Amino acid sequence: MAGLIKAVRGTRDILPPDTALWQHVEQACRHIFHLYNFHEIRTPIFEDTQLFARGVGEDKDIVSKEMFTWEDKARAQSEKAQSLTLRPENTAGVVRAYIEHKMGDTGKLQKLYYIGPQFRRERPQKGRYRQFYQIGAELLGPPASGSESPARDAEIIAMLAHLLREVGIKEWTLLLNSVGNSDDRARYNQALREALAAVKDKMCVDCQRRAETNPLRVLDCKVPEDQPIIDALPKISAFLGEGSREHFNEVKKILNHVGIRYEVNERMVRGLDYYTRTTFEFTHGKLGSQSALLGGGRYDGLSEALGGPKAPGIGFALGLDRFVLALQAEETVAVPDLSPIVFVAPLGQGMNAEAAVIARELRKQAIATELGDDSFRVKKSFEAAERAGAKYILFVGENEVASGQFALKNLSTGDQVSVAREDIATKLK
Ligand code: AMP
Repeated sequence: MAGLIKAVRGTRDILPPDTALWQHVEQACRHIFHLYNFHEIRTPIFEDTQLFARGVGEDKDIVSKEMFTWEDKARAQSEKAQSLTLRPENTAGVVRAYIEHKMGDTGKLQKLYYIGPQFRRERPQKGRYRQFYQIGAELLGPPASGSESPARDAEIIAMLAHLLREVGIKEWTLLLNSVGNSDDRARYNQALREALAAVKDKMCVDCQRRAETNPLRVLDCKVPEDQPIIDALPKISAFLGEGSREHFNEVKKILNHVGIRYEVNERMVRGLDYYTRTTFEFTHGKLGSQSALLGGGRYDGLSEALGGPKAPGIGFALGLDRFVLALQAEETVAVPDLSPIVFVAPLGQGMNAEAAVIARELRKQAIATELGDDSFRVKKSFEAAERAGAKYILFVGENEVASGQFALKNLSTGDQVSVAREDIATKLK
């Protein structure tokens, strides 16, 4: 016997009825994005490898270790051999599209959102997959469009609190920080490097390496023994210049004013030059070790790092897989019931055609309908209707068609009524 072929490690099938919960999250997000004037963008699932090397950074794990990359051979004279990569995140693709389509020339603030799969070759575990799904948004534009304003940072964060409420997730914590501008961070990096020189021998091997290559990344370390050492290191807040401090204060002031709770967490930094000022993360207490629901921040230098015009911006990406896990853990949102309202059961050989006409009439009137088969006996039709989750069963036999009166039975109460053909849909509504 041939061996079974299974889904590849780190990928999975999402089956009904769970898919209904996924759709619920997606629809809630689309609704919120509309309320905040964000519009959908769809970028390719694979891109030139260089985009991620430059747009995410070669020393980030997701680029150095976790990308699905392949050499794409030229197939025709007009094509070039090229290194391609399945996107590990979507910000770089969106900013590439912004630059490529000269979206900055409109002068307006671009507010874009995306929904789709991302790919990272991480060690799979609960809440961490190699193909996972993100919903994210990016707000960017020329400085004159107001893209640098702390009001935009606060608006994005307020939108996320609204979105979580709309989705039905209640138990979240917002962690907030400012990593300053590139000058602030250069000074902080230097201070960290000096402080680490004295203590790094006592730290994990990863930290020993990071202490040399990218000291900021030491702050991401999760090794328990390293935590007291990290807690004693200099803090970013002491290195923020006047402008960065004012920007951060304004973000906090607006959040306080609109009533959004947050905790300042000075360890939340993004170790990249073009990440600037505000960074944030929403976590959930019931997600275990993969507790981050979503993360985001400002990237005022990203467009320029990709060869584009000055286009300050801020964005976030939320993990759709983790939103669904959080909803299931909170048990407050029921899986939306997408089962059919009615099961149309042809009664007797040759009745499939009549039943098909009635099912079509009902579906046209927006009644979700499942259709049986005229080879089914009555008992089998009842079983099929129950398995489909239908609330009613409607029998379509020769007598019913001739008389125009149909038996409609409520499957949970057992009540049965006789309904005229033209009243079936109204009755079901
Ligand atoms: P990041 O792009 O790393 O900032 O991730 C943003 C969000 O995407 C995280 O907060 C997670 O919710 C989600 N996420 C990142 N990596 C994975 C993964 N491998 N599997 C599932 N969700 C992920």
